[in-house]
Amino acid sequence: MMELEYKNHLSPMLKGEMKNYLIDIDGTVTDDIPNEEPERMITAEPYPDALETINRWYGQGHIICFFTSRTENLKQITIDWLDKHGFKYHSVLCGKPRGGNYHWIDNHIVKATRYKGKFTDMVEKTETIEVFND
Ligand SMILES: [Mg+2]
Repeated sequence: MMELEYKNHLSPMLKGEMKNYLIDIDGTVTDDIPNEEPERMITAEPYPDALETINRWYGQGHIICFFTSRTENLKQITIDWLDKHGFKYHSVLCGKPRGGNYHWIDNHIVKATRYKGKFTDMVEKTETIEVFND
């Protein structure tokens, strides 16, 4: 299970190379379905490469959290759908702000990857990012 390292009254860190994956659902592991059309959330099909990659990451010991703009009232539909299609995961967090254009600020290391239609293992690339002017 999740191995955490505690140091000097600081919040714990995942050990070694383990990652906390926060993974969007709509438009990332299945069709982009708005909260206003929940009936489509039941019948949607998963993207096979997403299912396979996420389950491999889970098997490698990474933490899988689905982080979605679906609202709390849609959580059970979402869990049932994930389970029906065989997704392996640790948690589902609803209530991510809608509208995209995300910029996450945190005292822990954050990496972000935009899904553009192909779900694979991560590769290293050099890109320009925005950072604090420190
Ligand atoms: Mg989405």
